[in-house]
Amino acid sequence: MKVPFVNAAKNYLMIKDEIDAAYFEVMSKGDLIARGQLRSFENNLAKFVGTKYAVGLNSGYDALHISLRALGISVGDEVIVPAHTFVASCSAIVNTGATPVLVDVTKDFNIDVDKIEEVITPRTKAIMPVHLSGWLADMPRIMDIAKKYGLYIVEDACQSLGSHVKGIGAGAWGNTGCFSFYPFKILGGYGDGGAVTTNDEQIALFATRMRYNGEDRQTGEYHGHGFTCLLDNLQAAFLDVKLRHLPEWIITRKKIAQRYYEALKDLPDLLLPHYDRSNSDHVYQNYTIRSKQGDEFSEYLKANGVEVLTQFRKPYYKHKSLKLEDRGFPETEALSREVCSLPMSVEISDEEIDYVIKVVRSFYKK
Ligand SMILES: *Cc1c(COP(=O)(O)O)cnc(C)c1O
Repeated sequence: MKVPFVNAAKNYLMIKDEIDAAYFEVMSKGDLIARGQLRSFENNLAKFVGTKYAVGLNSGYDALHISLRALGISVGDEVIVPAHTFVASCSAIVNTGATPVLVDVTKDFNIDVDKIEEVITPRTKAIMPVHLSGWLADMPRIMDIAKKYGLYIVEDACQSLGSHVKGIGAGAWGNTGCFSFYPFKILGGYGDGGAVTTNDEQIALFATRMRYNGEDRQTGEYHGHGFTCLLDNLQAAFLDVKLRHLPEWIITRKKIAQRYYEALKDLPDLLLPHYDRSNSDHVYQNYTIRSKQGDEFSEYLKANGVEVLTQFRKPYYKHKSLKLEDRGFPETEALSREVCSLPMSVEISDEEIDYVIKVVRSFYKK
């Protein structure tokens, strides 16, 4: 048996009629740039996240980059970011001219809040917490620190749309929330896509202009040197369809996670992504476990037909060309050797889940 990590074609067939209808609607009218479908998706996304505004962009990276620029962050400023994340979080900071200041993570893969205050300097302007895999960083404590030192918060929520702490959604805590609709994110389009969410009208306006070369499309006035990073109207139409299914799909993901948990919790060499922080929910964009056996474990799964992801064996700050300072991040290094994301998607079948469980247990001779 072969279990793919995700199955985009199968997912499409689950909602084919709605996707095809959205396609014909857009194509038959020739509505390609910033039309009703984009506005509809932005309204629905803002409602879902719990913010006043959502602005569709070309990628999660653009959401991070535009957020930092909207907050005026540039050369000479420092932004705090976790040592364990996708490289784009850090690149968005570097590309504004600011300096990223890395902080280690804890066992839940998110920034170690106890280590934030020790790296704050007079140059620190913002914290970029990353909510990895579908689980929020400890936002109540991070917001307290931001308030105490007068710092901005740019949430990298690219992996956690639909997750909450204390009833407040990922992307609704900070000055901005940043989302990616890359195909294999929890809400995935059929190519690149992203959005920034905010309650700040000025930030929403800045993003709306900067995504379109700085232009106010009503007046034609250029309000700055901008970028070309507008979410395609066609992708927005598809994403609007998928967003309608997201609440039910999140329930499915939680059920799959619970099945993995019940079947694997007795294995002492595995760390499973289930945490007991109150009023928090994990939406399991990824079911990332840690195995003491590292590559030996992940290679065994692959050899037995289970496609797994081992992001990121080499932490981003260890890539020479990125010219980042490795101040030593023990938890990031430990988990980088051990991480292994099991197949997790709404299209996975019961038989496939059973097979994954069987292969994992057989590695441990159980
Ligand atoms: C995917 C992702 C990004 C970047 O999103 P793109 O749409 O690929 O640019 C940024 N941060 C995190 C944590 C991500 O997972």
